[in-house]
Amino acid sequence: MTPTVFVSHGSPALAVEPGASRDFLQSLGVRLGRPKAIVCVSAHWETEEVCVSLDPQPETIHDFHGFPPELYRMTYPAPGDPQLGRRIVEMIPGAEGIGKRGFDHGVWSPLILMYPDAVIPVVEISVQPNKNAAHHYAVGQALTPLRNENILIMGSGSATHNLRELGRGGPHIIEFENWLCNAVEAGRGEDLIDYERKAPHARRNHPTPEHLLPLFAPLGAAEGKPGEVLNRVFDYASLSMAAFIWQA
Ligand code: ZN
Repeated sequence: MTPTVFVSHGSPALAVEPGASRDFLQSLGVRLGRPKAIVCVSAHWETEEVCVSLDPQPETIHDFHGFPPELYRMTYPAPGDPQLGRRIVEMIPGAEGIGKRGFDHGVWSPLILMYPDAVIPVVEISVQPNKNAAHHYAVGQALTPLRNENILIMGSGSATHNLRELGRGGPHIIEFENWLCNAVEAGRGEDLIDYERKAPHARRNHPTPEHLLPLFAPLGAAEGKPGEVLNRVFDYASLSMAAFIWQA
């Protein structure tokens, strides 16, 4: 079975800023090998119900402000895969196909490092911040059969995400990150789904849930089994760049 993966995408400047996280994502693409297609649940596409991109040639969306000019010139010209997208719409109860939808930076900024040649087709799926972790886990579970077809199921968000605390750090961030990484490594899927009650300082690290919710899709597609934790570094003192990979 193809592994599933969650990546923290950090700042939009990730694609141009040298550092451990940039190096890590470049190495992750090599480690994962080349899937036939990538299905990416992104924190930066928020909808009421599950939306699946059917766009055959998604544009690159520069959905951020005040970053270096070269970032606005970057494009990720990977194709979409409408046929796979339509299958996914059938696999996820209540999902809707969207004909035109570009790649937001939750998709393209990690992928431009992981697969810079941009030839592997990518199908993007939205998050539903009004729905809970169990819902996103179920979305991932529904996608499990795709792992038998060399299709990479990926979540792109952030292990911690309180932008008001950038540059400050603090023990509440370390404690949450520790809890999250330990729960992933131990395969405590039920605890993870219940993170809002079980994890220390959950609300403070995720004042809004959209950056953690993408984690539950690859977790669900791996049936909550133990995962491996990679890249345990913090950018801007408070932004965990942890990534998780599920092999089994
Ligand atoms: Zn983000």
